[in-house]
Amino acid sequence: MIIAKARAVDGPDKPFRVAEIKRRDLDSNDVLIEIKYAGICHSDIHTAHGEWGPVNYPLVPGHEIAGIVTDIGSNVKKHKVGDRVGVGCMVDSCGECENCRKGEEQYCLKGNIQTYASVDKYGEPTQGGYSTHIVVQEDFVLRIPDGIGLDAAAPLLCAGITTYSPLNHWKAGAGQKVAVVGMGGLGHMAVQLAHAMGADVTVLSQSLKKKEDGLQLGADHYYATSNPETFEKLAGTFDLIINTVSAKINLDAYLGLLSLDGTLVNVGAPAEPLSLSIINLIGHRRSFAGSMIGGIRETQEMLDFCAEHNIVPKIEVISADQIDKAYERVLASDVKYRFVIDISTM
Ligand SMILES: [Zn+2]
Ligand SMILES: [Zn+2]
Repeated sequence: MIIAKARAVDGPDKPFRVAEIKRRDLDSNDVLIEIKYAGICHSDIHTAHGEWGPVNYPLVPGHEIAGIVTDIGSNVKKHKVGDRVGVGCMVDSCGECENCRKGEEQYCLKGNIQTYASVDKYGEPTQGGYSTHIVVQEDFVLRIPDGIGLDAAAPLLCAGITTYSPLNHWKAGAGQKVAVVGMGGLGHMAVQLAHAMGADVTVLSQSLKKKEDGLQLGADHYYATSNPETFEKLAGTFDLIINTVSAKINLDAYLGLLSLDGTLVNVGAPAEPLSLSIINLIGHRRSFAGSMIGGIRETQEMLDFCAEHNIVPKIEVISADQIDKAYERVLASDVKYRFVIDISTM
């Protein structure tokens, strides 16, 4: 058994504390990773605060993990000691259902095993990346291309794939008009990815505060949604809108921005139900859709795509003692654009 140093929370309102967690001995297909960096995702905060249902505390969040392989099981074929690797939101799935066989393990019909706050096939609770080591079966370990630093790679494992997958699925590319709603951790990745895919990219943000960053990351246009004229001016414009905002939005206003056959995809998950007027869909054969992270094959494809196009998140590296403060700042939208924990400070 391996003992990892970690940061854990003991309840919805509790601060992070130093903890030691057990990682299982390597099974034949397992990889031991020494974690170097872990990103802070908004989902970590929702889960740590118990907002997405009951949690078995203590909890170690973190599903944007980048590190180095330090040991492998006897049967591991895909990774070797010294490899630069990453782990995202999932660490296992059934591997047999229709969706797993398609490489869409995130939609495993038996439920994928999440990196933290799940129970693994050994009956043990999973604990995430705010820790020095993790053991993961090799199929769920990604290769990080040489061109991407491990600190910048971490957020790609959730923020990167969450936005890449819908852009890829709905075929964002040359000749397409894509809008990105929200210019946060997810949004600033979506802008870069859609631009690299060749689409004409528009950011729809509450204000124009981050306009310069948006344009520099590859946006062609930038509008404030606080200005009602934006919705008049852009009516019927977009083939695809990626909504990264998890707060409640006026769906009808955004659906009105879609062209014929356009699709509005939610990747954020608002806590309350949203309503929309169906007439807004049928009048222009529009779709309203959702998308959740991406499969393992697609995640590798995304990492390779980012390396090829020099796409990296903008990050602020923090020490392990700054996690509570970082959570406050994420909730206040005061981050440009992703916090990454330097695990050497653990
Ligand atoms: Zn995440
Ligand atoms: Zn499955």
